[in-house]
This record gives sequence, C-alpha cells and structure tokens, in this order.
Amino acid sequence: MSSDMSPATLRLWRLVQFAVAGLGLAIYLALIFKPIVGLHAFWNVLIPVAPALVAVAPGLWRNICPLASAALLPRHLGLSGRRALSSRGQDTLALAGLLALLLVVPLRHVVLDLDGPATALVLTIVAALAVLLGLTFEWKSGWCSGACPVHPVEKLYGTQPALTLDNAHCTSCERCSTPCPDSTEAMTPLKNNGARLRPYLGTLLVGGFPGYIWGWFQIPDYAGAEGWQHLPRAFGLPLGALVLSLVLYLALGRILSAAGGDQARRREILARLFACGAIACYYYFRLPALFGFGPFPGDGMLVDLRGTLPESFPILARTLTSVLCLWWFMVRRPMPRPWSFRPAFSD
Ligand code: SF4
Repeated sequence: MSSDMSPATLRLWRLVQFAVAGLGLAIYLALIFKPIVGLHAFWNVLIPVAPALVAVAPGLWRNICPLASAALLPRHLGLSGRRALSSRGQDTLALAGLLALLLVVPLRHVVLDLDGPATALVLTIVAALAVLLGLTFEWKSGWCSGACPVHPVEKLYGTQPALTLDNAHCTSCERCSTPCPDSTEAMTPLKNNGARLRPYLGTLLVGGFPGYIWGWFQIPDYAGAEGWQHLPRAFGLPLGALVLSLVLYLALGRILSAAGGDQARRREILARLFACGAIACYYYFRLPALFGFGPFPGDGMLVDLRGTLPESFPILARTLTSVLCLWWFMVRRPMPRPWSFRPAFSD
C-alpha cells in the first residue's frame, strides 16, 4: 500500500500535529507550574487513553505524538544529518528503548506519579534525546522506530489496527527502518527481518509484558521520599512477574512446537493471546482506578465516583474491557493491514 496524500490533507495533518504539540506543551508546563492539573492530564488522561489508541489506530498515534513531531522537526526543516542506521544500530536503539520502558515505568510508583516537576524532568530528557536522534538519523529510524520507549508497546498492541492512515511525517520513503513498522502489514515485535538482537527483545516483550503489567499494579504510589525505600519492591515485582510470564510464554511455545502443524500460525496466535493479556490486564486495573476503585484507593484516580457509581462498577468495567480485548485480539479477523500507507520511495 502506498500513499498519495493531497496538499490539503497534508496541511490538515500539520494543523493537527501543531495543535497536539501545543497541548503537549501545555501539559508539560502544567506539570511544572500546576502539578496537580499536569499529573492528572498526563498520567490519568493521556497515558490511559494511549494503549487503546495504539491498538485501534497506531498510525494516528504515530502521526500526532508530540515527541514524534519534536524528533522529526529537524528532518522537516532540512536540519537532520539523515544518517542511515545499520541493522546493528537498530538493534542497539531497540534495546535502549525496551530498557527505558522497563526501568522508567516502576519509577512512577517511587516518584513520578505524584511529582509533577520530576515527570517534567523525565519528559525533558526524553524530548532532548528524541530531537538529538532526529537530528542525526533518517526519518523515524532514530526515535519513533528506534529508541522511543513506547515503540515496543505500539508493536505489541498495534497488530490488528482498524485503520490505515496516511504517513503524515515521511514525505518520501528512504527505507530508514527494516522492517518499517509503519508500512508492514500486521506488524508485531516478532517481525524483525533477520536482525540479531531484536527477535530476542520481541520475545521478551511479548512473553513478559502481561506479567510486568500485573506486577506493576500490585504496588502503591509512595509519597515524598518514602518511595526510595521501596525501590527493590517497585522494580522487583514487575520484573519478577515479567520473568514468570516469559517462562510461561516460552513453555507454551515449546508445547505448540511439539504438537506439529502450522507452527507460524500457532506462534502468531500465542503472541496475540499474550498481547491481549497485557492490554486486558492494564485496563482491568486502570479503568476502575480512574474512578476511585483501584487496588489502592486514590492511586491513579482522575475523579472520585465511589459515592456515585454502583459498587458493581469495577466488576462491570473489568468484564467489559476483558471481553472487548478478547474480541479485538482473538475473535475478530481483520485483513492484515499496516499502520499507515508507505509514501513513494525516493528512488
Ligand atoms: S515509511 Fe520509509 S522513511 Fe518512513 S519510517 Fe518507514 S522506512 Fe522510514
């Protein structure tokens, strides 16, 4: 599939990118100057919406993400060095992104969830890195398809998107990433075109992420300096559960291999099952918590509706999100599609 975007459509995408970047800047400033507002907007609105958006329309997320816009601005302005990344370089950035994801998220309980300036500081570092990689490498290879910590999750949840959109960043395809996650049908963390390290990283993510999410939700947010005393627990539970989940995934993979038949198809179904488990686990805990019904009341709460919603709300929300995830990943069989149309090749 290739794109033939009209100038009017491109202008519209630029307008939306500009508006979302402005919103991102407003949240960033709120984190510093109005931390309560900023923390709610970032951790309790933007982040909970992101997994669903990535599952349904990863191309939309990739087109409008403010960090993507920041990383790709140098390329749009003709300021990028446009260096090509070798397969080994892609491996290195993929490793950095996955490590950042697994090591920064536990810090939410320790400090970030309740500290606006600390969250803003992390975003500053991340944005600086994104711009630096955009200044150095061609199109999305450095950041969006490289070291971005959200990218592994995009590949995990975005395997069966409902929409294929225009690629509103790459004006021509320079083959900067192999495989291109935006342009590959039914992209998963397990599609790596002969890379050396990325297949292992993909297996680690697919198999381990459900456990990691479950483990993360077993820990409360710590206020003040108390969180630093609980650092081993904040990291140990999600990472320990990741290992257990990965072992289960590998064992199931081995059993399926021994059963013979269509191995590739079975591996693909197993990967979808674990992706489904990860996102279902996330919303199982996260949706009730937004309204005060989380395992640690008050943690991750957007608005307290405990006196308004029925006591059955958590079980209803959990049933609904679990059934929806199962249907999305395991029952519906959409045509394999990419996240976005590939623009014309430059040569
Ligand atoms: S469409 Fe082409 S230039 Fe854009 S990210 Fe994919 S491989 Fe790179």
